[in-house]
Amino acid sequence: MSDNSNTWPISRSELVGRYRMPNRNRNILLIGGAVMLVGNIAVFFLISSMLQKTGVDSTIPFWLLSTLSIPFLVLAISLAIWWQMKSRWEAEAPRIWDADGCICPWCKVDVRSEPCEAHGIDASHRDLLVAYYASPMLDNQAESYKRLVDAVPRSPRRTRLFAGHLGWFKRQAETIRDHDADPATRKRATINVFLTWYALLACIVTIVILVVPDGMKYIFASGFAGWMLLMMPLFFIFNPMSIGPAKCKACGQQCHEKDQEICSECGADLRKPGAVTRKEWNKRKAVKAIPILIAIYVLPFMMDFIVGQLPTPARQAIWSTIGAPSGYFANLDPSTMTPPRVEEEANFMLQLARPDGPGIMYNFDRGFIEQSLDLGLLPESYREDAARATVSATIELEETGGDRQVVVVPRIDDSLLGNKGPRLAFGGISIDGGPWSPGAQWTLVHQDLDEWWRANASSRDPRPES
Ligand SMILES: [Zn+2]
Ligand SMILES: [Zn+2]
Repeated sequence: MSDNSNTWPISRSELVGRYRMPNRNRNILLIGGAVMLVGNIAVFFLISSMLQKTGVDSTIPFWLLSTLSIPFLVLAISLAIWWQMKSRWEAEAPRIWDADGCICPWCKVDVRSEPCEAHGIDASHRDLLVAYYASPMLDNQAESYKRLVDAVPRSPRRTRLFAGHLGWFKRQAETIRDHDADPATRKRATINVFLTWYALLACIVTIVILVVPDGMKYIFASGFAGWMLLMMPLFFIFNPMSIGPAKCKACGQQCHEKDQEICSECGADLRKPGAVTRKEWNKRKAVKAIPILIAIYVLPFMMDFIVGQLPTPARQAIWSTIGAPSGYFANLDPSTMTPPRVEEEANFMLQLARPDGPGIMYNFDRGFIEQSLDLGLLPESYREDAARATVSATIELEETGGDRQVVVVPRIDDSLLGNKGPRLAFGGISIDGGPWSPGAQWTLVHQDLDEWWRANASSRDPRPES
């Protein structure tokens, strides 16, 4: 083992222990993961029992399942990647230390005696290499990576792009965390991070809305993950972790000398990988971040209220994708509203009930159009519009061998017209879309297709054919 402790900014144990997780972080991860698991399972059961009670639809929507399971998938994959990186690094790091940093980061060749062929790194790059290998522990990774990439004659092309563009963003984040940087520089870095982050998010959201059919739905379905992406810059700014002098990880006692072997406070062996750390938990900054964290977690639950405060067009645009909050239509009283207002709300309701729309979840919200029709506040044409919004069918001609078959796939949602709900009628003949031979031979109503109704209803709508 070579002794580099006087020329390296960090000790060997820090270098090798780069991916060692502090016990506290591991515990937070374990407890957090367990809480999340139990919480998600509870939400799952709560929602499925609620769905069964309302009888709207007993299957759990796919987007909810994916929203609940994505955090675990992400956690598992990142843990696996981290574990692999840790094992690789702990095999590689002692070699880097013994070669005094003179290992090409890309082809892993020892460049002390001759330069690596592919990239032209030689012993003259030693200081930049050491700074690069020590940078994760000193929190200036992007900065020292860029200096190395700029100095190397033939750094890989992809690396140059990476260090230049993504590296720029990381350097801004490092500047925000750097307590030695002057306030004006840090302020500029903060503004840069904010603008870049939100410009990128806006681009992604615009593309998803324009390109993906029903893209808005996916954006809202991203749920908590999407919300976290939106809030990410706050984590850059209120990061309570900072880098200080080296200290014993077990007891926090500051190291007196650079190559100290035994902690003078607790006697821990400081030569072990990860026994020394520079990470500091800034209590005052953490306390300052608490109200922001609470706001971040509470705001999604206030979303209905916040969206409710928006001007009508914006509010309806959002609701027509994700559905109006429960009780919205039930709380409207058409008898106190002007006819144009009633029509506006009725149109909004039809918009929600359209075939590919979010629908209207609860029965108590479905009566608005019927009520307004009874009060004479809506033109009678709305009765047919309301019926057509919830009842439709696709007709396809299927040919197998020589047989032709007409396949009708009905879609009948819960009625907006109370118990006298619309029926899908079969048997009439028309040549121009209008009724020619009236008198349907048989019909379907919502209850015929809905599983819950079929299982639980004691009486169903009588049919004309029976
Ligand atoms: Zn190389
Ligand atoms: Zn100690």
